[in-house]
Amino acid sequence: MFAGKLTAEQLSIIADSADQNADSVLMVTANQNIAMQLAPGVDADKELNRLQQLTGLVSTTSTPTLRVCPGNHECKMGLTATRDIAGKLLAQIGEQGNKLTWALSGCHNSCTQPQLADVGIVSSALVKGENGERTPRFDLYRLGAEGLGTLAERSLTLDELCSRVREIG
Ligand code: SF4
Repeated sequence: MFAGKLTAEQLSIIADSADQNADSVLMVTANQNIAMQLAPGVDADKELNRLQQLTGLVSTTSTPTLRVCPGNHECKMGLTATRDIAGKLLAQIGEQGNKLTWALSGCHNSCTQPQLADVGIVSSALVKGENGERTPRFDLYRLGAEGLGTLAERSLTLDELCSRVREIG
């Protein structure tokens, strides 16, 4: 699922599948997907295809792992429209970047754990321009050898962030 976004109808369809095929248990994964432990004899590929057709969800195996919090789409703390930004960033990520884990948070609370991703992005501020419009700034973290992300760049504009993402690959 892109950015962990799932409608009630899609969830209902997946839950029905779990009722029939997975002992009625759904699991939310750390990467914002839904997992089921299928009962013996269930054809996983067939069931996945059926669910994709019914829900309209598509496989995201060709895209990188990208954790995205709700941002200001739904969260009062959110500084940015994280899913919109995630869509823009995905368009910049190339072959190298597809092998990395990414996380984007809508504020410093860092609910997507950007400090644990290969590339962590935190919406850090809204800056008021001369025309009165507020535009977001982002801090960029890169995973270090000790297993925790460290601040690589501070207060990037969205264009600057997209440029850094292209450089990463
Ligand atoms: S990181 Fe901030 S904006 Fe995102 S869900 Fe957490 S509190 Fe909300």
